[in-house]
Amino acid sequence: MEKLATLAVHAGSPEGANAPLTTPIVQSTTFRFESAAAVQEYQRGKSGLYMYSRDENPTVRAAEQAVAQLEGGEDCVLFGSGMGAMTSALMAQLSAGDTAIAATTLYGGTYKLLRDVLSRFGVKSRLAEPEGLVDAIRDGGAKVCVFESPTNPTLRVLDIAAVAKACRAAGVVSLIDSTFAPPLVQRPLQLGVDLVMHSATKYLNGHSDHLCGAIVGSAARVEPIRLLSHKLGASLDAQVAYDLLRGLKTFAVRMERHSSNALAVARWLEEQPAVKRVWYPGLKSHPEHALAARQMNGFGGMVTFSVGTKEGAFRFWDRLKLVARAASLGGTETLTSLPILFSHTGYSPEELRRAGVDEGMVRMSVGLEDAGDLIDDLRQALE
Ligand SMILES: *Cc1c(COP(=O)(O)O)cnc(C)c1O
Repeated sequence: MEKLATLAVHAGSPEGANAPLTTPIVQSTTFRFESAAAVQEYQRGKSGLYMYSRDENPTVRAAEQAVAQLEGGEDCVLFGSGMGAMTSALMAQLSAGDTAIAATTLYGGTYKLLRDVLSRFGVKSRLAEPEGLVDAIRDGGAKVCVFESPTNPTLRVLDIAAVAKACRAAGVVSLIDSTFAPPLVQRPLQLGVDLVMHSATKYLNGHSDHLCGAIVGSAARVEPIRLLSHKLGASLDAQVAYDLLRGLKTFAVRMERHSSNALAVARWLEEQPAVKRVWYPGLKSHPEHALAARQMNGFGGMVTFSVGTKEGAFRFWDRLKLVARAASLGGTETLTSLPILFSHTGYSPEELRRAGVDEGMVRMSVGLEDAGDLIDDLRQALE
């Protein structure tokens, strides 16, 4: 197989004599049929024909094949957002009366989807701390286990192979949200996970300019999710699929730079007296550093640190000049957010403690700028 960097540049590109180098944007909602027989051929499936762009579109299909190849899966379905992907993946597996095991460290949107929405349709959720996830799976009775690694914002690293193995033994479908560690950094299907979900809004597209989501896995696991997605309608637009393919061409270079910049920033932060603690899987001080070194390739672009107090964090944050104050991650610009104002707003002190979030915490999505310039900005803001 070609190396990931080569795949990232070429996956999904048109082939054949005199083919365009880049994938054309097929900007049409509908497609002509030659005859009634052609429609019947389409209805039988696997014909390569198109009917309506909510269900399938050639540009979207090319991007799906590219993401599937990068993740090392047989097939992929793309969605109009990461939450569209997660909703479709969970609804395709779960019916009334079924139970999902969810890691307590989940992205807020996924947690609220289970707690506030799927619960209304009779789906039960059982929460487990990262340490207790394998035991919770072994307890049985669940249909799906949804988890993340590394987690937000404390960048805990879970043993993906161990979770996948426990799921397989218990007949539970494993579903990882791998947004924080996309291919090149981490490939969960190789570690035995059934389904990988991405908010492709983040590193895959990589430019903070589009929402998109992905589900990747075996053809047999992806097909029911694709069919349900036609009904739920969180479809990806052809223009966005084109931009995703464009983003993927620089994906490997971007990930290398995100990882090397993040490591440089994390090491520098760790030496600052004003910084109480740094969380980055690439640091030796990280509690799961050895596991991260084993299951990841580079450690990704997310760094979290604490300056100790809320006042200190607010002051530092307001003083940043180059680094942007903004939610989200995975784009070219370095972004910082304060978990207590963003992902964990409204949590009680007890809930914050359980999530491992302290009031002085700052989360950074380290971008592609010069690492020295980033450090200069952090230094002046910390002074
Ligand atoms: C952003 C994000 C999502 C949701 O994705 P959208 O594209 O915003 O819908 C899900 N999981 C994680 C870990 C994320 O960072």
